[in-house]
Amino acid sequence: MLPFRQIHLDFHIHEAIPGLARNFNPHEFAATLERASVNSVTCFARCHHGWMYYASQQHPDRIHPNLQDHDLLKKQIEACHARGIRVPIYTTVQWDHQTAQQHPEWVAVAADGAPVSMAESMPYEAGFYRFLCLNSPYRDWLKAHVRELLEVFPVTDGLFFDIVWGIDCSCRFCRAKMREGGFDARRKEQRLAYARQMIEEFTREMTAHVREFNADCSIYYNSANIGPGRREPLDAFTHLEFDALPSDSQNGYMNFPRQARFERNLGKDCVGMTGKFHRGWGDIHSFKNRAALEYDCFQLLAFNCKCLIGDQLDPSGLLDSTTYDLVGAVYSQVAAKEAWCEGARALVDIGLLSPAEWRTGSRADVGATRVLQEAGHQFDILDSQSDFSLYKVLILPDRIPVSPGLADKIESYVANGGKLLASFEAGLNEAKTEFALPSLGVTLRDNPVVDESGELVRGRIIGWKQAHYADFIRPEGEIGKGLPSTEHVMYTKALEADATGEAQVLAPIILPYFYRTEAAFSSHMHAPSSGEIGSAGVVQNGNSIYFAHAIFELIDHFALPWAKKMVVNALELLLPEPILRHNGPSTLQTTVNLQPQHDRAIVHLLHYIPEARAQYLSVIEDVIPLFNVKLSLLLPKPIKTATLQPQGQPLSFEVDPDGRTQVEVPRLDGHQMVVFEF
Ligand SMILES: [Zn+2]
Repeated sequence: MLPFRQIHLDFHIHEAIPGLARNFNPHEFAATLERASVNSVTCFARCHHGWMYYASQQHPDRIHPNLQDHDLLKKQIEACHARGIRVPIYTTVQWDHQTAQQHPEWVAVAADGAPVSMAESMPYEAGFYRFLCLNSPYRDWLKAHVRELLEVFPVTDGLFFDIVWGIDCSCRFCRAKMREGGFDARRKEQRLAYARQMIEEFTREMTAHVREFNADCSIYYNSANIGPGRREPLDAFTHLEFDALPSDSQNGYMNFPRQARFERNLGKDCVGMTGKFHRGWGDIHSFKNRAALEYDCFQLLAFNCKCLIGDQLDPSGLLDSTTYDLVGAVYSQVAAKEAWCEGARALVDIGLLSPAEWRTGSRADVGATRVLQEAGHQFDILDSQSDFSLYKVLILPDRIPVSPGLADKIESYVANGGKLLASFEAGLNEAKTEFALPSLGVTLRDNPVVDESGELVRGRIIGWKQAHYADFIRPEGEIGKGLPSTEHVMYTKALEADATGEAQVLAPIILPYFYRTEAAFSSHMHAPSSGEIGSAGVVQNGNSIYFAHAIFELIDHFALPWAKKMVVNALELLLPEPILRHNGPSTLQTTVNLQPQHDRAIVHLLHYIPEARAQYLSVIEDVIPLFNVKLSLLLPKPIKTATLQPQGQPLSFEVDPDGRTQVEVPRLDGHQMVVFEF
């Protein structure tokens, strides 16, 4: 098992910076980490600039020209080992500025003949983002470098290979390999398929190479394509890490849930990477708010992942004391909590199939993750290879094309008592000509609405304001619980479907007077309801509920409250006794874990509220306490005690005749574990 309190110590340093490691003191370095409760630190052998930080015999010319102590890495490792701190070694794979300069013929080539880079203005860019091709002789160069590392550092705890991506490359080496392998290199999707295959083959070859010298060090490739529907080459990894700094990408605070809820099910120890940075990697001399860092780390614990905080070492070799005060303030708390996290696994009701597997660009899983978390549901994110039988409810959000094989798998899941919630085009066959899942109880209507170019308009979201093809839903009965029975705009056109056989329409679509076009438009936005009933809006067929709208994309796009409410109502119909219910606000995040080796369940409560306080950034600045949080739990075994941990405060509890355990947490400050001993 990997340690819980890790640091990834970036050290990408340009040669224009003088006096590298001039103030490095190995004893002080390791002591600072120890004081901050760090028990693993990833240190650098070679950086994206292409410079090395150890006494390389192979490439003495590549030792950073201003490195004052060529044994920097060696001394970092020895000093940390003396204090029981693990030190995986970092080396870069596809970004290496020096190698790309010296060997332009090893740089990946785009289909138009240009070198492949993250930036556009090469060779005048500021950056080291040209991708080296792993089919070029660079692969042998890299293997020799790795062999040297393992020989120079016989006690290597781990290797972190950075930037291992499937690149669309048309270099002469790749073209020859594609020809050999029967790929049509002129087609982009064929080149990408080959690139994925090549990365699988490369990582397996590299892992085998590492194992010739070191039998048990950890090995991770960042990120080598692992994700929903892409589980190869999992066997080349000893564990998984996900680089999901909430402040460093468009998905912000949805990054961790999205990745952790999938990757934790792949049978590997998982590490989630946040950073001490206010923004992203390389954001030197910035500091994350303490509340935000606590949230990231405690949320990772709640997801049964290990914590990793990214930092960048100052060129002088000194660890920044402000940073390690911050890290220590959070990691000392992690140290106190981890006894209830080691070896834990999630107790869940729901499996959410990720659309990422089909590369439709849909963010339906983000919308679904939001609504499920806000409602206190316990769930995993799945791909089509997952074992559906572990879940009481399977959600197919918005755009899940169903192949005949997947249809059989889902239908047999439903036949065995599984519940199904699907929406929009999820459940259609791959050609979208008909529903592939009879259990949904819906059929496509003929002559769906198209635009002036003949394109289907269903599910189309145009920008922020305009909703040219909006229609309405009138919630009724159980699906409309808590909502007035009147038209609610859905901002998109539903898929036109009818209920079949015994299936029941729970809510109809109400049509507008017209769809907004040049010929007919009304007011600033969509035309109002005409009152005319259209196709089915929500359909229930036994254990299945189907929404005709792209309801999860609408939640992701507009945080549509009535869409969320209907999803929650649908889940109440399908899952009347969820693992957890609470009386807290929608900002309360919950997970339920089991620690089989200790025969206990652990409920994590998190209350941190990210807010978009900047144009491109959500931040957390405050911890807002909650009081008298009532929990109702359906646990797998009778319990003997309930306690708040790590403070060890006993809680009184009651068990209802229906077997649900009721407790009340008097006060929640950010994060709290409630532990139930069986
Ligand atoms: Zn290539």
